Amino acid sequence: MIILPYSSRFDKDDLLKMMKRFRPNVKISIASPYTWMTEFGPMLIAVDGLEHVKCDDSMIDKLCHVCGKEAKTLPACSGCKMALYCSKECQKIDWNELNHEGICKHLKMYANLL
Ligand SMILES: [Zn+2]
Ligand SMILES: [Zn+2]
Repeated sequence: MIILPYSSRFDKDDLLKMMKRFRPNVKISIASPYTWMTEFGPMLIAVDGLEHVKCDDSMIDKLCHVCGKEAKTLPACSGCKMALYCSKECQKIDWNELNHEGICKHLKMYANLL
């Protein structure tokens, strides 16, 4: 599922704002969305602007990114410092099975923008 602001109002500032908002573990509520199927298949959720998207980031650094387990402090990936894990096992699963190896460097770039 993809969430997009209305494309005609989509500019660089919006993009950066979106990147800051749509982080792992952020609970997102969408006011007055409209949806449709594109000819490419995936369902899109569109809103007229970011003011319709409410984010709750209170859990941002408290949930394991693999299993969702809650903890007060979670060690982060040493590469990107973005991905949080409750255990070595979860880190291994993310790296080997969920392709963290492939996205770690992108997350690192993204972390620098925040
Ligand atoms: Zn975990
Ligand atoms: Zn990483």
